[in-house]
Formats: sequence, structure tokens, C-alpha cells
Amino acid sequence: MDARHSLVTGANRGLGLEFTRQLLARGDRVIATCRHPGKATALNALAGEHPGRLHVLPLDVSDPKSIAALVSELPLLDDGGDATLDLLVNCAGVLHSGERFGSVAAATLDDSFRTNAMGPLLLTQALAPRLADNARVANLSSVLGSIASVGRFGTPSYNLSKAAQNMATALLARALQPRGIVVLALHPGWARTDMGGDNATVAVADAVAGLLRVIDAAGTGDSGSFQDWRGEPLPW
Ligand code: NDP
Repeated sequence: MDARHSLVTGANRGLGLEFTRQLLARGDRVIATCRHPGKATALNALAGEHPGRLHVLPLDVSDPKSIAALVSELPLLDDGGDATLDLLVNCAGVLHSGERFGSVAAATLDDSFRTNAMGPLLLTQALAPRLADNARVANLSSVLGSIASVGRFGTPSYNLSKAAQNMATALLARALQPRGIVVLALHPGWARTDMGGDNATVAVADAVAGLLRVIDAAGTGDSGSFQDWRGEPLPW
């Protein structure tokens, strides 16, 4: 079987870096994207260990021009310009902590929407012609985007933007359903990354291994579903 092609956003640290590691370990060819490839030390070291199988490209998911530039670079990565992507992992995300009712700022809402909701929608739309039929699109969501599980007023820009991302997942699932492409909203658990912090309960490697199992097991009937890293369904 030919190597699968995967593309990961936010691949320089946290869950995105671990997705890149585990996808390479299973034999995929990976396009790993991040805002500042020149500073992505761990990712560049990985590229050195996997010559020809890992390409690191710049992408700021909150910037439509950056998305367009990435899409225009992809044909350069394969001989005939016709390789397709089997997996897109929309992993890049931002959480502005410390928001309080009474002082929520437009700037954090704007940044969160652009990064967490607009980015996955526009990138998936732009890459749709390059997705293989039966490809998988994994959108890193969060239980904090679940309206049914709403908790305290803590991180509204994150909650709102992940809820909006969930709607993007549902709409993309509909749009791509005729091609057999499966689009998933996935909660990685409370994972020990810069975002999750040291007290988080799930190791990064376990979160990503679980998510890859969920992605691999997903069939067309699962498209548009919201699941956690163990495959447990989550309420919208
Ligand atoms: P981290 O904060 O550890 O990493 C975030 C990543 O996103 C970094 O690579 C960062 O790049 C990148 N990023 C942020 N903004 C942009 C942008 N505009 N364009 C491109 N890349 C960007 O987060 P995690 O690895 O923990 O989270 C990964 C995903 O999982 C996120 O979508 C998050 O919401 C979700 N998630 C995480 C949970 C957890 O417990 N960790 C729980 C639930 C969901 P840079 O270094 O340039 O800032």
C-alpha cells in the first residue's frame, strides 16, 4: 500500500507535534504546518530524522492569505502535482485564559474565532479539491464547546469559538458527504500540553494515540459526530 498523506496544523508543539510524530511512525508522509517554521526546533529535528517524508510549511490558520499560500505550495511537494491528502488534522487552536464577565474583550473573541472556527472551515474548504475521496478531516474541538455541557463563565472566547467550530464540522460533513469524506469533531481529553497545563490528566501520547484510533475507526456514518479520544460520543 502507498504511504498515506496527512497534513497537520499547529504542528510545532503540543498535540500537533505529537500527531506528526505518530503519523510518521506509522509510515505516513506528513505536511506539518506552523506559524514560524524557522523557530520550530522539535519539528525541524523530526524532519531531519525523516528526510523526504516530512515537509514543514508555514501556515497561520487565522490568515486567509496564509491559507492560500499554503494551498499554492502543495503541488510542489509531489512529482505530478496530483497527490491527494488522506487526513487533515485541524489542530491549531488558541485559548485566552483570564477572561471575566464584565471584561470580555472583542480582541480575544476575534482571535479565537479566526483561529478556532474560521481557520478549520476555510482551510478545509481550500484543501477540499486535494482531499482524497474517503479522506478524514479531524477538527480538534473541546468539551468546552459543548452547549449541552456548559459550565462556569471562564473562557467565553474559547467556548464560543469551539461551539462555532462544531457547527463548521457539521456543515463540512454535509458538504463533503457525497465524496465519502468523514469530518469529525474530536475532544482530546484534558491533555498535558502548554494549553492543558501540568495538572492535566491525559498524556499527550495517549491522547493522540486514542484520537488516531477514533479517526481510523470512523466510517461514513460517523461523519459530523462529536467524540472524545476514547471514542465516547459527546453532546453538542
Ligand atoms: P497548545 O497551546 O499546546 O498548542 C497550540 C498550537 O496551536 C501551537 O502549535 C500554536 O502555534 C498553534 N496555533 C495557535 N494559533 C495559531 C494560528 N493562528 N495559526 C497556526 N497555528 C496556531 O495546544 P494543544 O496542543 O493542547 O491543543 C491542540 C488543539 O487541541 C487545540 O485546538 C485545542 O483547543 C484542542 N484541545 C486541547 C485540550 C488540552 O487539554 N490540551 C483540550 C481540548 C481541546 P504557536 O506555537 O505559533 O503559538
